[in-house]
Amino acid sequence: MPLFGPPNIDQMEARRDVQGLIKALAWKDAPVRRAAAEALGALHDPASVDALAVLLADENSGVRRAAVGALVARGGQRVVDPLVRALADPDAQVRSIAENALYKRLMADIDAETRRVTATALGRLNTPDSVAPLLNAVKDADENVRIAAIKALATMGEMQAVLPLIMIVARETARARSTGRSDAAMERAASHALDTLADARAIAPLRAALSQSDPDAREVAIRRLARIGTPEVAGVLTGLLSDGDATIRRAAARGLAEMQWQPTADETGARYWAAHREWRRCAECGPEAVPFLVASYPGAAAMERADIMYALAQLEWQPQAGDAMAAAYWAAQGRFDKCIEIGEPAVEALDSALRSAPRWRFRVEAAAALATLGQSREEPFAHLDLVQRALEILDAGGEGADNHGTLETFLAEQHLFDPDTEKVESCKCGYPASKGAAGGAPEVITDLMGFERSAANTTTFYCPSCDVRRATIVRGSPEAGILEPPTDE
Ligand SMILES: [Zn+2]
Repeated sequence: MPLFGPPNIDQMEARRDVQGLIKALAWKDAPVRRAAAEALGALHDPASVDALAVLLADENSGVRRAAVGALVARGGQRVVDPLVRALADPDAQVRSIAENALYKRLMADIDAETRRVTATALGRLNTPDSVAPLLNAVKDADENVRIAAIKALATMGEMQAVLPLIMIVARETARARSTGRSDAAMERAASHALDTLADARAIAPLRAALSQSDPDAREVAIRRLARIGTPEVAGVLTGLLSDGDATIRRAAARGLAEMQWQPTADETGARYWAAHREWRRCAECGPEAVPFLVASYPGAAAMERADIMYALAQLEWQPQAGDAMAAAYWAAQGRFDKCIEIGEPAVEALDSALRSAPRWRFRVEAAAALATLGQSREEPFAHLDLVQRALEILDAGGEGADNHGTLETFLAEQHLFDPDTEKVESCKCGYPASKGAAGGAPEVITDLMGFERSAANTTTFYCPSCDVRRATIVRGSPEAGILEPPTDE
């Protein structure tokens, strides 16, 4: 064997002499360098990566092919950067080996860190070939790889990523809603990437997301569209005000508000305010608002229902159907004759008026309407017939003294008052409110009052003519009786 002859690569490989092979990479003859690179590739030793990377600058293309092949065979995150540099190699075969590794092999590497580093490198490369492996990596089993792929796609400004990113945000939103937990890091990364991508080019993929069946995905798309805020977006969002799903209509209305869109006083404006559940403003859009007000009533909460009724009254709505809503509408306006016409479906509205109509006169009329429908109630009047009669006398409009006399006679007939020993005191409106012997404490004529029980043992009495609170009585307490004196507040 000649002294200083070429190194015996086969022997070194057989002995796993990595250091010897690395030295051989610098040998003056290209075939030796090439054989040494191939041998190192087969040995998979981490120590060889830097030396093989240096060899990518070799003047001989055959050597560079062997070096890039050995790096690919070695694998691992440290080969990623050298392979990225190899993409610029003048030799097509070197480039092809590096491309194949970066776009396919390394993205399928068993080591998650290798996949993550490769994904980041692909984002920097920003080539058309990067897109498919990165879109794939968004579904990687490893979270860090997924996040790296999301960030890479955002850096690239890749619009193909928009829909998958929306689906991620939607999935995490749904998960957070149902379990209280979500993958916050993924959600943040996807949201941030969508922010980065939200420019006019994103309108098309965002519109595509609107045709998804998942309402969360549609909401996410609407929010991003609103941020883009062009006239085209306004057209899309106003179209969504007619969507079949109320949450989508509301999301579209919020988006329009966010982009400072100005509603007009027409059907679109009515849809807009209906989606915001701003019923009075909805009514300001004119008669076009009626169908939206009517349609929203059944699912609305009690407070909203009052607003809807008010809005319909502003529009001078005339209900066509004889249903519960029509009854509530007429009851709100004190048209109890209409409630009686409606009959059974009006009972709920009448009961509601009985509990909470602001005017006690309305409550008297509601109680009378219920009685007409065969539905007598024990509250809020102990004797509705007496209250009605007393109001009739009061309303007959005689002189004050005449009225008082007529009422006293009526009360005496009803044994509510003894004219020989007692004296009736009237409310400031003239309604008989209390009675008492001369010098004695006045006693509220509770049978003639409307009453409300608040706490279990507290009852407050009101003048059914003018709504003044006459007394609050606590029963069963040590100081049973009138706690608050009658008041003409
Ligand atoms: Zn009164």
